[in-house]
Amino acid sequence: MKSGDLDKRILESEERFRTLVECAPDAILVESEGNLVYLNPAGAKLLGAASPEQLAGKPLADFVHTDGPAPVKQQMQQGEAADWPTDRFEQKWVRLDRQAIDVEVRAIPINWSGRPAMQLVCKDVTDRKRAEQALLESETRLRSIINCFSDFVYFKDGAGRWLEANDLALQLFQLEGVSYSGKTSAELAGCSGMHEKFLLECDGSDELAWKSGRQVGMERRIVLPDGTLKLFDVSKVPIFHTNGSRNGLVVIGRDITEHKRTERILQDKRERYKSLFEHNPDIVCSFDLEGNFVSVNPAVEHITGYRPQDLLGRTAKIVIVPEDFARAKEHFAKAAQGEPQNFELAIIHKNGNCVDLNITYVPIVVHGDIVGVYAIAKDVTERKRVERALTEAEAMYRSLVEEAMIGVYIYQDGRFVYVNPRMAEIFGYTQEEMLQMDVLDLFAPEDQPLVARNIRRRMSGEVQSLRYQVRAVGKNGTQIDLEVHGALTVYNGRPAITGTYLDISERKQTEELLRESDKLAAVGQLAAGVAHEIRNPLTALKGFLQLLKTKTDANQDYFDIMLSELERINLIVNEFLVLAKPQVIHFEPKDVRLLLQNVIALLDTQAILNNVQIFTQFADDLPLVNCAENQLKQVFINILKNGIEAMPGGGHIEIQVKRRGRDQILIRFADQGCGIPEDRLSKLGEPFYTTKEKGTGLGLMVSHKIIEAHRGKISINSLVGKGTRVDVILPAAVGGSPR
Ligand code: ADP
Ligand code: MG
Repeated sequence: MKSGDLDKRILESEERFRTLVECAPDAILVESEGNLVYLNPAGAKLLGAASPEQLAGKPLADFVHTDGPAPVKQQMQQGEAADWPTDRFEQKWVRLDRQAIDVEVRAIPINWSGRPAMQLVCKDVTDRKRAEQALLESETRLRSIINCFSDFVYFKDGAGRWLEANDLALQLFQLEGVSYSGKTSAELAGCSGMHEKFLLECDGSDELAWKSGRQVGMERRIVLPDGTLKLFDVSKVPIFHTNGSRNGLVVIGRDITEHKRTERILQDKRERYKSLFEHNPDIVCSFDLEGNFVSVNPAVEHITGYRPQDLLGRTAKIVIVPEDFARAKEHFAKAAQGEPQNFELAIIHKNGNCVDLNITYVPIVVHGDIVGVYAIAKDVTERKRVERALTEAEAMYRSLVEEAMIGVYIYQDGRFVYVNPRMAEIFGYTQEEMLQMDVLDLFAPEDQPLVARNIRRRMSGEVQSLRYQVRAVGKNGTQIDLEVHGALTVYNGRPAITGTYLDISERKQTEELLRESDKLAAVGQLAAGVAHEIRNPLTALKGFLQLLKTKTDANQDYFDIMLSELERINLIVNEFLVLAKPQVIHFEPKDVRLLLQNVIALLDTQAILNNVQIFTQFADDLPLVNCAENQLKQVFINILKNGIEAMPGGGHIEIQVKRRGRDQILIRFADQGCGIPEDRLSKLGEPFYTTKEKGTGLGLMVSHKIIEAHRGKISINSLVGKGTRVDVILPAAVGGSPR
């Protein structure tokens, strides 16, 4: 190549480079020995000069900011041994107008006009720096904001890498101190104290959000390092690039453990109240202020026969009995003014029956205002029925006690608190008097310690009940034999004794009488024995008398009298024997006239002593009577004795025996005695009824029994002051004819 060509080509090349440098968008500066020796137009512009010439020759240090990083020279020297040209580094410069700018610089050592120099390729990065700064600030702001959240928050990028998380999130996922940024959950799993599976599971649900393309919510359980379980309401919000590709994911989790717990408690309470309502056996309902049913529980159907839906929206008028409605309305009005009410009323069941209800009205207060009335209605029909039955039973028992033939009492604190009329009657006091008295004073002094001890034993609970006999003293001073029975009970809430007093004075007398009759029976038997002993000497006496009578003529009258008297003794002794003979009862046909004659012989002496004459009037044609001889005689003796005893001043007794119809005979005893008042007639024949001082009251009773056994009848007619007629009717013996 020729040198002219070469020069030309060098010139061309230089020209090209110059243009390149002059037009380069980056600022190009050359520094030599501290001064700027070249700038391209972009360089001049960077430093705020109108043209490169304005700056040429000026020291570079004039443009370096004192606050910025070390000047270019130093930066270069730092990397001297290493790479040339230098990496980009940043500088802070000051333009001609004193405005600071950020500059990114690359330095290349060159030779300038034979001297060492440095070529600087610079770019103004002020805007980028500012943007970076703003970003940094906004990130800091964001972090501090998300750290203020009570929710956990973290962001991931489109590829599932963690970008940012608030402290709470780091704490929960146990990533504190881990540099998580830019790592996927799979990469973090190893660093977290948390179960690996859990972190990965979280990613699983990320996918859900991505796929759905919008915010998704879910509940997640997270176990804290200390083992407590927390429940989180987690939202995941996917963010897409405009082209639809995945940009990032925001995850926010709210701790709802406490909320859930309260909710559960609330739910629990709601259900409890609900069952109180649903399963309450009483009617539970609410009314609005106009009195319309707002809610009714199912119990209403059982109690009223109406279903809740039959009543809702209506008033209670359809069920309440008309006469109670006005009263119910009054109570309702008071309840609606804030005053709870309790009362009873009757309703009519759908089936027509009456039902008694106990109603409680309670005002419903919401935020201080009464908005309605609650009602609780209890079915008290059964209770009312029981109450009525109780009142009736009480009345019944009261009359039973009041009318009782035994004394009834309640004792407390040394006094009677109740005595029935019979009790007062036994003692001869009025009921009121008895309640005033000291109980012990009612008893015979010698028995008072016994009574006091027995009271003590029951009151102390040593024994529940006691039965004992005791002597008491009536108002008029008479002794009363009592049988006391009493048991420990409670009266007016305190211990008391309730029981009965039975007047056994009569019973005591009866016992006495029975003992007496026992004695008589024994005497009777003795008499029988004695009678035998008498009969034998009597036979001897009679024999010798008859013998003597034949041997002498004198005093024949005396012998006759003695013989007839002996005969009479014999007859009486025989009668004793017959009566006292052990009672082997056998029935035989007998002539009652003979029986009567024997009885009269027995009683004659007593009759004469009492100045009583006995007349007989026996019919001739009389049938025999099938009888137990001794028993019939006993009847006749009783009747005759009564007759004699009824005439203390003497008189007549007539005994009549005659036929009555074809097959009965009538034996009539008529006396002229005191007679029997009409009201007493009915009592005759009752055991122990007697008006006599030494009477037994057994005679007529025994007689009735005997005649009954003979299929006969006794009837008594009497006129007071005139006399008494006793008729004994007996059936005639079949085919019996007089002997
Ligand atoms: P007692 O003779 O032991 O009293 P009774 O049974 O024989 O028992 O008689 C009962 C009572 O009936 C007598 O106490 C008496 O009051 C009355 N009575 C019986 N018979 C007569 C009579 N003939 N005249 C009047 N009263 C009589
Ligand atoms: Mg008698």
